[in-house]
Amino acid sequence: MTITSTNIIEETNYYGAHNYHPLPIVVSEANGVWVKDPEGNTYMDMLSAYSAVNQGHRHPKIIEALKNQADRVTLTSRAFHNELLGPWTKRIAKLTKKDKVLPMNTGVEAVETAIKAARRWAYQVKGVTENQAEIIAANGNFHGRSLNAISLSNDPDATKNYGPFVPGINKVNYGDINAIEKAITENTAAIILEPIQGEAGIILPPEGYLEQVRKLCTEKNVLFIADEVQTGFARTGKMFACEWEGVEPDIYVMGKALGGGVLPVSAIAANKAIMDVFTPGSHGSTFGGNPLACAVSMAAIDVIEEENLVTKSLESGKYFADKLRAINFEGIKEVRARGLFIGMEFDQPVRAICENLKDKGILCKETHVNTIRFAPPLVITKKEIDWALQRIEEVVTN
Ligand code: PLP
Repeated sequence: MTITSTNIIEETNYYGAHNYHPLPIVVSEANGVWVKDPEGNTYMDMLSAYSAVNQGHRHPKIIEALKNQADRVTLTSRAFHNELLGPWTKRIAKLTKKDKVLPMNTGVEAVETAIKAARRWAYQVKGVTENQAEIIAANGNFHGRSLNAISLSNDPDATKNYGPFVPGINKVNYGDINAIEKAITENTAAIILEPIQGEAGIILPPEGYLEQVRKLCTEKNVLFIADEVQTGFARTGKMFACEWEGVEPDIYVMGKALGGGVLPVSAIAANKAIMDVFTPGSHGSTFGGNPLACAVSMAAIDVIEEENLVTKSLESGKYFADKLRAINFEGIKEVRARGLFIGMEFDQPVRAICENLKDKGILCKETHVNTIRFAPPLVITKKEIDWALQRIEEVVTN
């Protein structure tokens, strides 16, 4: 039987659980911002695996690091030391200006780790009575799919029939500083926020919000956890999106592009007063901090720094978003952007637009029904953006 996209999709749908609704496209090869299907058709990737491929697909430097390390040692578990965990943790600590780093694999594991750290900190440092610690989360958030992460969520699709949920969580509206102030009690351990809400549709907080959250957290002795899993590593035109308001959270949660689109690598970074709540046996992961992941991740950060992806994201994002705003179509409600993290909101569902864009050679995905997210690899050139803009305009205005 010849292998075609149709066969592959049928097999996947038959044997695989239906927990996703992908566009009908099979990606069998990828390079930079471009991907190919098995039939040889070429597409531009405007999603970057939800910002995990900021450095571009299969960046040669990252692939070289992967291959070199694969020839030495790939996994030791944390039962033994490996040569790269020290240099890698140092690198992330310097980047985040924090004392210490704890490695995990996926974004949601890093979220779990941050919440566990905050709860322990509440009991051991702040003095909250055992089992009373509370976490504040923002409506519209996306922190991943574990039970803890969905307990933070108010999205019915993510939560329905998964209860009972993790207790001790208070939800407030994103962007409302007074709501946070009201929600804080003597038992509050932390507030967890995305500095820009990604899955909610690229929702930018009102100006000054992150700064106010920082101030309030300091005043009330509450930890500020910034979930930078999607916004981190140059996606928004800053290394971390918190920098848009000059804010330093107490705990950074990182993932996605930390692994350069090659391996799952995630981490939290925090100062000693928080990180020292972890003792041997109290938390861990078989694969977290493995030498292959460390090698790949260091190369991934090298690429961001050496290729000035922060500046590129900022400049290309502004160019792209301004041109999108100039498209003359009354169904466009708003274009929200920070760097190459762009949400184009329409007054109607956009799935059909995404499917039409696919037919024109552009891969992107709707987020929350009415918004298209444009988040290409940050290595995209102006010429490639122009190529995309021409097609986006054609599809949108027709
Ligand atoms: N946090 C944020 C802000 C995310 O956007 C995501 C994934 O989209 C996650 C956490 C979960 O990451 P993962 O899918 O790697 O578990």
